Amino acid sequence: MQYRPLGRTGLDVSLLGYGASPLGGVFGQVDEETGIRAVRTAFDLGVNIVDVSPYYGATVAETVLGRALRGVDRDSYVLASKVGRYGEADFDFSAARVTASVEESLTRLGTDHLDLVQCHDIEFGDLDQIIHETLPALDRLRAAGKVRFLGITGYPLPALVRVAAAVPVDTVLSYCRYTLLDRALEAALPEFTTRGVGVMNASPLAMGLLSRRGAPAWHPAPPPVREAAAAAARLCADRGVDIAQVALRFAVEPAGFATTFVGSASPENMARNVAWALTPVDPELRHDLEKLVAPVLNHTWPSGRPEN
Ligand code: NAD
Repeated sequence: MQYRPLGRTGLDVSLLGYGASPLGGVFGQVDEETGIRAVRTAFDLGVNIVDVSPYYGATVAETVLGRALRGVDRDSYVLASKVGRYGEADFDFSAARVTASVEESLTRLGTDHLDLVQCHDIEFGDLDQIIHETLPALDRLRAAGKVRFLGITGYPLPALVRVAAAVPVDTVLSYCRYTLLDRALEAALPEFTTRGVGVMNASPLAMGLLSRRGAPAWHPAPPPVREAAAAAARLCADRGVDIAQVALRFAVEPAGFATTFVGSASPENMARNVAWALTPVDPELRHDLEKLVAPVLNHTWPSGRPEN
């Protein structure tokens, strides 16, 4: 495994992180014991950062992750969870709710502190509230020793840039913004790294688009992007390679990302993901894939309030 500094936190994190949303059944039915083995496999292979949220599976992912973490040395991993998002359209970034939310997460995760607490999908909230109410409330939890570092997450980058410029957050996380299909997060890196903010990349498989199984029905990508991803998967299959392998390696390469979170509730897939992250891909295949997806490169979808 390779490790990189997480901004100015003093933490070194594995270049591949474990994203726990699949433990909540976000991508399909999950057997709990298998999901727990997926987490342990990732740890055994050197992964030392885990991302979760009360939103994933309506708290189920945190509960299952808490079981997976039982008995694991608390100092051996960096635990990140979130506040503010609780359902598809259920957001509450008020000081009272996020303060209670952290306590609930600590109980489910079986720990007395989170290493990182992140405002989840800030583009759905009032950014002024996040700057003036939510993050100050989380800072009080930091002073109380319940959390160590503060971060923000979301899909549209301008909202992350605006909040990171207003409040000295420790991390930002965006998803599907540095994949074979989108390069925006790499272009935005200086906005964050010059402030000492650790940048975390998520969804290297574009939430399943860049996998043999393809995207789940709820996936927000517009049809041309779905079609390009399917064509890319076919091209890889023709060359005897799994599209996920190319997509994963591509996403972890920029050194400016502290980590890239990939999610799977399968121990076999997590073992594959670690191996793939550390193995360069055939340059010719990569070139042909980049050419194939060029017409839909950086095509986004709407997320959050129009003003954000
Ligand atoms: P992803 O790109 O990691 O794709 C996950 C999908 O790919 C799942 O269907 C999984 O089964 C499949 N997959 C994983 N490994 C595979 C393999 N080796 N072969 C074939 N298929 C494989 O997307 P994700 O799970 O959405 O993102 C990863 C993590 O990033 C999440 O679990 C979460 O922790 C974090 N994340 C955070 C936010 C946010 O804060 N707003 C948003 C998205 C993701």
